[in-house]
Amino acid sequence: MQKKFEDILASYVDALHPIIYINHFDFSVIDDALKNIGQGVKIAEFNNALGAIDFQTKSPMLECDLEHFLKLSMDDGFEIDTFIVLKDVHQEMEHPKIIALLKRIAEDNLYRDDYHCTVFIVSSKTVIPLELENYITVFDIPLPTNIEIMAIINDFINDLNIQAPQEVLNDITLSFKGLNEFQIKQILNLAYQDGGCIDAEDKQLILKEKEQFIKKAGMLEIVNFRETINDIGGLENLKEWLRKKAKIFASLDKAIKFGVDIPKGIMIIGMPGCGKSLTAKATADLFQIPLVRLDVGRLLGKYVGESEDNMRKALKLSEAISPCVLWIDEIEKAFAGVGGDGGGSDVTTRLFGQFLTWMQEKENTVFIVATANDISKMPPEFLRKGRFDELFFVDLPNGEERRKILEIHLKKRSKWNKGIDSIALIKETDGFNGADLEAVVKDTIELAFIDGRTTLTTANLIKSIKDTKSISSTLKEKISQIKETISKIDIKPASRADEK
Ligand code: ATP
Repeated sequence: MQKKFEDILASYVDALHPIIYINHFDFSVIDDALKNIGQGVKIAEFNNALGAIDFQTKSPMLECDLEHFLKLSMDDGFEIDTFIVLKDVHQEMEHPKIIALLKRIAEDNLYRDDYHCTVFIVSSKTVIPLELENYITVFDIPLPTNIEIMAIINDFINDLNIQAPQEVLNDITLSFKGLNEFQIKQILNLAYQDGGCIDAEDKQLILKEKEQFIKKAGMLEIVNFRETINDIGGLENLKEWLRKKAKIFASLDKAIKFGVDIPKGIMIIGMPGCGKSLTAKATADLFQIPLVRLDVGRLLGKYVGESEDNMRKALKLSEAISPCVLWIDEIEKAFAGVGGDGGGSDVTTRLFGQFLTWMQEKENTVFIVATANDISKMPPEFLRKGRFDELFFVDLPNGEERRKILEIHLKKRSKWNKGIDSIALIKETDGFNGADLEAVVKDTIELAFIDGRTTLTTANLIKSIKDTKSISSTLKEKISQIKETISKIDIKPASRADEK
C-alpha cells in the first residue's frame, strides 16, 4: 500500500520539483518509497562509499566519484523518466562542479519538454548550497500518526504471532508518538526479546528508549522532575491561571469541540531564583504531560540553512510528542540581540522569525513555557499579545510568600514544627529570593545535624539567615534593571496583592 508521504513525494515529482532533498537516515524506507512511486522509471543510484550501484540489487556497478556519476547519468532523462538517487552526499554539496551539474539537470528538467529527470538526495544532514536553493525542495518524512503506529504494531505482533490485550496496544501506541517507523520497530524487537511478549510493562521500556532517541537527536531534552504545583510558595495568580488551563488540557478533545482555543503558552519574566524553572516543571505535572526543553544554542550549525533546518526539526519533534510542555529557558539569551545591535547574528534573527511564525500559526497542543530574567534586549514583537496567552512577572517574594517558601522547604525535609515562628522570619528575610530561602533551610538543617540536634528553632533559622547574602545585596543593579524594564510593559504580576 502506498503511504501518505509517498503520495506527496509523487506529487512533487509530477509538479517537476527538480531536486528533492530527503532528510532521513533509514535508506530502506526511502528505497521502498522510491520503488512504489517510481514504477517504470529508470533509477540510477550513487552511494558515497561505493560509487554507482544497482538500485534493485544494491550491488556495486562502477567505482567512481559523484562528479563522474552525474556526468554519466545526467542524459538518461532524455530517453526515459529517470530518478537519480544520491545517498550521503551532503559533504559533496560544496563543490562548484557538483553544484553546476545538479543545476544543469534541474534546469533541463524544468525547462525542456523532452527531459524528465528528478534528483533525490537522501541524507541525515541537510546541506543546501545557495546556488541551488531555488531548485531544491526539502522533504521531511512525517512521523507516523496514531493510526500508522497502530498498524506497525499490529504487523509486528501478527508476524510473530503474539497475543496482546487491546488496551495495552492502545497505550503503547500513544507512547510511541514522536518516533519514526524504524525506531518503533527497533523498540518492539527489544521489548519482545526482553520478555517474549508485549505487555503493559513495556510502556516503561518504550519511554526510556524514546528518551534515548530524542537525546541522540540532540535538539530537545526530556526533563525528568518531581516538582508539583504544591512545591511553589506564593505566585498565586500564576498558579490559579495554570490550574484553569490544566482543566482544558485534562479534556482537550471536549474543550476543542466546545470551541475553546488551545492554550499556546506563557512567558514568565522576572527575578533570578524566584521559581520560574520550578513553574515550568510544575506546569508539566499539573497538565500531566511530558516536559521537553529546547536549547536554541544547540540548534546552531555551520552550514547554510542548517540551523533553520534544526529548528524546524526540533519544532516538528515537539509537535510529534505533543501534548507536551516545551520549555525555553533564558529565552533572552537564546535570541540575544535579534534584529538590533546587541550582537545577534543573521542566523539567530532568522531562527527567531521562524519561531515567531510557528508560534503565531500553531494550532497544536505544544504548550510553551518561556522563561527570562532580562528582557530589555528582547524584540518587542515577541512580547506582543497573541503570541503568548499571558505574560507574568515574578518579583522577589513578598513577606507572606517568603513564609510559605520557608515552610515548603522545611516540610520537604520533614523539619517543620509548630514551634517555629515563621512570622518572625518574614522580617529577617526581606530581599531574599526563593533560592536564598532554600539555602537557609539547607544550612540550618546541616548545622543541626553536625551539632546533633533533632529539631530546629526560630533562632537556628535566624542565624543562617544572618549568614546568608541575599540576592538583593549581591545583584542589586541587575534587580533594579529588571524592575525598570518591567515597568514599561503590560504584564501581569504572578503574585497576588493580598499576599503582601
Ligand atoms: P533563574 O532565573 O536563576 O533560572 P528561576 O526563577 O528559574 O531562576 P528556580 O530554578 O525555579 O529559579 O528556583 C531555584 C530554587 O529556588 C529552586 O530549587 C526552588 O526550590 C527554590 N525556589 C525558588 N522560588 C521558589 C518558590 N516560589 N517556592 C518554592 N521554592 C522556590
